[in-house]
Amino acid sequence: MLWLERKYLSMVMSNLDMAKWVNDNTLNHRCPYCGDSQKNKYKSRGYHFNKEQSFIYKCHNCGKTTSSVNFLKDHFPMVHKEYLKEWLSEQGKKPVQKMPDSSKFKFTPRTDILNTSTDDLKSVAVKVVDNAKARNYLLDRSIPEFMMKNIWFVENSEVLSKLHVKYKDRVLGTDPRIILPFYNENGKLIGVTGRAINDSPLRYLTMRFQDDVPLIFNLNNVDKTKTIYVTEGPIDSLFLPNSIAVAGSDFKKISEDIKDNAILIYDNEPRNKQIIKKIEEVIGLGYRVCIWNDKRISQFKDINDMVRSGLSENEVKDIIDKCTVQGLSARLQLKEYKRV
Ligand SMILES: [Zn+2]
Repeated sequence: MLWLERKYLSMVMSNLDMAKWVNDNTLNHRCPYCGDSQKNKYKSRGYHFNKEQSFIYKCHNCGKTTSSVNFLKDHFPMVHKEYLKEWLSEQGKKPVQKMPDSSKFKFTPRTDILNTSTDDLKSVAVKVVDNAKARNYLLDRSIPEFMMKNIWFVENSEVLSKLHVKYKDRVLGTDPRIILPFYNENGKLIGVTGRAINDSPLRYLTMRFQDDVPLIFNLNNVDKTKTIYVTEGPIDSLFLPNSIAVAGSDFKKISEDIKDNAILIYDNEPRNKQIIKKIEEVIGLGYRVCIWNDKRISQFKDINDMVRSGLSENEVKDIIDKCTVQGLSARLQLKEYKRV
């Protein structure tokens, strides 16, 4: 199906180096199989061209020849899956598992539940906006007041043990902490993480009330039909629209249904071997990732730092959008990034 193949090739174009449609039936770009010329980065000898009712890929450097559909499968497995689904439905056959209508993913906040769950927090914590010390701490970190509405504060961590029976007899210290709550998709409080605002050696204290549910910050508020920005730290996520945070660097805990819309944003640590390994892994799994190859932010370790240095939230978002890559181009960008 020529038009369908053309559509999916156009979709992945931005992830291919030097890609351009020469005419309606010829797409040209650098060959991701052989990397084309190492010396000349403008050489691009990979061509998709029309043969009967489909596209064929051929590289005039390495000689690789395959169908363009296989090309998609090799370099963009997720896009290839989508292609197959659409191809099947175009054939008049129903795919085995039809994608539910996108409106099904829209989140409607259930205020009734939301209220009951914040009641738990209300009994032990205050909103940061109502506590000068906590509010100033966040203002110092360039977090404006309107972003603080879902952030709480405890003067003494000990009171947190009242949140759940599991922690009834736990020693939680006496540090003052900013509290970031985690809710599940129905708005039930399933855990909290508390950041000490004194110089406690235990910077973060994380509590989970349900063992089988991953803690993902703001999951109860995102629109799953749109791009979802996924950061490590909850505070970093506050600066981005439609965002969540995994509270750590384990991005694989986000669920399959948001995988396609997610952009994974690791902290900017090009020399952290463990993180680089994790990035390599998620690229292999087909995720879109932000690889911080932008000189403007090279000396900042996370989004909060970038904002504190004077960049606006929009500028940070633009940099992220520009640095978001997948598949082969992600691998190439990562190579570049490690070298910094
Ligand atoms: Zn080639």
